[in-house]
Amino acid sequence: MLTTAAGTVPPASVLVLGAGVAGLQALATAKRLGARTTGYDVRPEVSEQVESVGARWLDLGIEALGEGGYARELTGEERETQQQRLTEAITGFDVVITTALVPGRRAPVLVTAEAVRGMRSGSVVVDLAGATGGNCELTEPGAEVVVDGVTVCAPLNLPAEMPVHASELFARNVLALLELMVDADGGLRPDLSDEILAATCVAGADEDGAGPADGPTAADREAE
Ligand code: NAD
Repeated sequence: MLTTAAGTVPPASVLVLGAGVAGLQALATAKRLGARTTGYDVRPEVSEQVESVGARWLDLGIEALGEGGYARELTGEERETQQQRLTEAITGFDVVITTALVPGRRAPVLVTAEAVRGMRSGSVVVDLAGATGGNCELTEPGAEVVVDGVTVCAPLNLPAEMPVHASELFARNVLALLELMVDADGGLRPDLSDEILAATCVAGADEDGAGPADGPTAADREAE
């Protein structure tokens, strides 16, 4: 919102679809910039997180909680209902940022061509799911298209635009994973009963069934 001697410019209204890591950051950033923010997700427990960053929660009455705390893919019927309800809701927003992701699947289409055409000229759709096909029907991954005055952009490889910080965050993640695998002596001893390590293991166990946990410790390597 901008207040000047010539009057007040009302705040933009921003809708974020998918309130995971990227979505919550988008909501918080838009709020800091002065927007009126609304968030939506198919995981109902996220409503509290959306509200905690100052946004309104959009409830479309569709819940799709899958395994491991992630969303599951919607059924055909649920998808149709969701697209229909979102198409009605999207019309009133100046900016729609989409970040919906189901691990291992194509990104769900949440913003139909009809929804884009229903937005005011000058509005913007930022599709962060371009790398997995996009959440908007009109998305062209890596490109910016203008349809009836509405800009739809789907930037790819955003981390490369802030390489220092992206590398720091990536390094922290790799370090956290490595710390799960090494013992106090620095020896590689992954505990395969650990949920995270078991899920990331791509090699089978040894004949004695012990698997990579049998690997040499730092002391073994020193002795060698
Ligand atoms: P995430 O798993 O944390 O969030 C994805 C969210 O989408 C989840 O909250 C999930 O419940 C929701 N979702 C799934 N299906 C939905 C549906 N049908 N309707 C509404 N919500 C649905 O993942 P993320 O890290 O936030 O990444 C999301 C997308 O943004 C990805 O395509 C990713 O490539 C892109 N992206 C992420 C980052 C980042 O820093 N995390 C940066 C740039 C781009």
